[in-house]
Amino acid sequence: MAEETEKKEKKICVYVCTGCGISDAIDVEAITKMVEEELKLPCKTHESLCSKNGVQQIKKDIEDEGVNTVVIAACSPRVNWDVFSFDSVIVERVNLREGVAWSHPPKDAETQALAEDYVRMGVVKAQKTELAEPYIEEISRTVMVVGGGITGMTAALEVANTGYDVVLVEKESSLGGWAAKFHKLTPVERPYTSIVDTAFVQDMASQVENNPRIKVYTSTTIEKISGQPGLFDVTLNRDGSTEELRIGAIVLATGWKPYDASKLEELGYGKYSGVVTNIEFEEMAKEGISGDVLFIQCAGQRDENHLPYCSSVCCLVSLKQAKYVTENGGNAYIIYKDMRTPGLYEEFYKAMQDDEKLFLTKGDIKSIREEDGKLVVEVENTLLGETIDVKVDTVVLATGMVSTVKGLYTVKEEFPDEKVVPYKHIYEPTIVKSEEEIEEIAKRGHILNLQYRQGPELPTLRYGLPDSNYICFPYESRRTGIYAAGCVRAPMGIVECMDDARGAALKAIQCLELISKGATTFPRTGDIDYPQFFLQRCTQCKRCTEECPFGALDEDEKGTPQPNPLRCRRCGVCFGACPERIISFKGYSVDMISSMIKAIKVPEEEGIYRIVAFFCENDAYPALDMAALNGLQWDSSVRIIPVRCLGSVNVVFVADSLSRGIDGVLLVGCKYGEDYQCHFIRGSELANRRGENVQETLQRLMLEPERFKLVELAISDYDKIPQIIGEFVEQIKQVGPNPYKGF
Ligand code: SF4
Ligand code: SF4
Repeated sequence: MAEETEKKEKKICVYVCTGCGISDAIDVEAITKMVEEELKLPCKTHESLCSKNGVQQIKKDIEDEGVNTVVIAACSPRVNWDVFSFDSVIVERVNLREGVAWSHPPKDAETQALAEDYVRMGVVKAQKTELAEPYIEEISRTVMVVGGGITGMTAALEVANTGYDVVLVEKESSLGGWAAKFHKLTPVERPYTSIVDTAFVQDMASQVENNPRIKVYTSTTIEKISGQPGLFDVTLNRDGSTEELRIGAIVLATGWKPYDASKLEELGYGKYSGVVTNIEFEEMAKEGISGDVLFIQCAGQRDENHLPYCSSVCCLVSLKQAKYVTENGGNAYIIYKDMRTPGLYEEFYKAMQDDEKLFLTKGDIKSIREEDGKLVVEVENTLLGETIDVKVDTVVLATGMVSTVKGLYTVKEEFPDEKVVPYKHIYEPTIVKSEEEIEEIAKRGHILNLQYRQGPELPTLRYGLPDSNYICFPYESRRTGIYAAGCVRAPMGIVECMDDARGAALKAIQCLELISKGATTFPRTGDIDYPQFFLQRCTQCKRCTEECPFGALDEDEKGTPQPNPLRCRRCGVCFGACPERIISFKGYSVDMISSMIKAIKVPEEEGIYRIVAFFCENDAYPALDMAALNGLQWDSSVRIIPVRCLGSVNVVFVADSLSRGIDGVLLVGCKYGEDYQCHFIRGSELANRRGENVQETLQRLMLEPERFKLVELAISDYDKIPQIIGEFVEQIKQVGPNPYKGF
């Protein structure tokens, strides 16, 4: 089937739209002439190609003339993509509207040259594009939820109620998680003023257990997971006996563990028996409590030496526990750095402020000592303006939440250190040296046990929280088809956990529906084109397997990549990494981009420069459209090529450009580093690192290092585009024309 498409002769027609101000800025007749005489292709114009009549003209040519490849020179490819979509027809869009007419001076020779180059580049791209065919497998539509707490149970019920089968795996003997173990819970519904009992957790557990679509496995752990979304092979271990399941997508909802209070000796933990954690106090409350109690907020939290973040619920938990105290006739004291009760939980805070037996103050704990069988807490910097001693029976440390996956992402030290260490600030892997060490960590409590080349658990961001990109897609993880929800991915309360579970459940369902059609998930949602490897020429350098941000590529013993197309997110990072250039997509290949570069006319006249700029399609290219929409203009010597990610820019493109006489190469993509915004996690960072190879290329060609630059850009910085481009053009003018011009 694929071969048939490849062999099918291309019948190309170019359509130029004269509407939306295009013909006011560009000589469309000259473009038509260039297409017909230079490119020897038919070219038609229309005053509004996106209109019913315009689309009809294209459809007619497809039906009557057998046109199977259309080049539409009109608006940005980011708009009207649904209008210009025709079954089994290759569509290439040339951005004459935002990219030329709206962003460059009208009826200007350089604007015209830009438009003509873009049409040449679009035509060659269409010539080199093949119709993509989806990678289709018969998939499982069962979702496995790992963790039977509030988040896991909510996710399971949501998935089941949407009509999909669920397997719920819980390592403990019953469902409910932490919430079922507590004495009472913080408010879960309007008016958010009173604490509630745990009956609703039991209700939820019985709904799960009685749902015919949910199969519950308690006292069960996951021995291993191999395969890919839709085709995950999961081995469960229940009381020593194993069972194998085929699973489609996974929601990880294993929640949190309490911060290790033994590290809080300075607050008297471990020294005085009356100093307990908030978790221990729940147990005490079940038994019945008496006496006065002081709560120390942020016990180890928002503290660089312990947990640098806010655990988001501890203030509420202390207010709840203070209620246990005052209801039993005791006095409660809460000493806080800041009282944090977000959203409608403020109502609960207000309600508790009316409790006469509760005393709240900001303050710092100076010391804790024992006196006459009581604990004396010395508090300074209080709202009262003086240091006070508070004598109580019990001190409760409001300790925080640690994700259950923290420290579990391990990477084998079988490849040189320098390839792992640079990503440490993003990935925080635990680098292990031997199989024994991996087994040892597994015994400590691995969760998913993924049989992936890149490690057994979800990679984590800062603070050991698994996530893909804080800004754009919270539930996504860097393992396609596996979604994190609830406190495993960020500290949150019960209500937020339930919302999170619903989000992750929908993502899991969306993943199943997309991959059943051979399409990828976010951010290239719906893309069916996937990378193909010409492995006969692979040198087993392992760059692709190490650099794939999603762990899509496993390896055989020799180091040859073993692609898992359903794990692939189509970023093209492997394509950018491969020194042998043997990875390609049907619609994105080295030959294609190199041919587009060659299609640019490089004038030899003095004072005219040509620059190639690779713009990332996620933020940078949309920013260009926004700049044009806002009437901003940029230098017309720059030819912009959109790319999947800066990580998909192969160094050969820079060499090709410069050896052809292009004066400079600019890369514009997402921010990298600790607060990265790259939609493919480390694509822009890798592009930056590959910059070293680019400098080697420049040296080899005896060209100046200033001819190459990488710029980070967020979509909201669209107004900086004229300046970014302008500064680079100035830099190139300082260096002077490329001596390879004319070769
Ligand atoms: S395209 Fe991206 S996700 Fe897919 S295999 Fe290559 S590097 Fe991995
Ligand atoms: S980067 Fe290219 S040559 Fe290296 S292992 Fe991957 S496919 Fe093979």
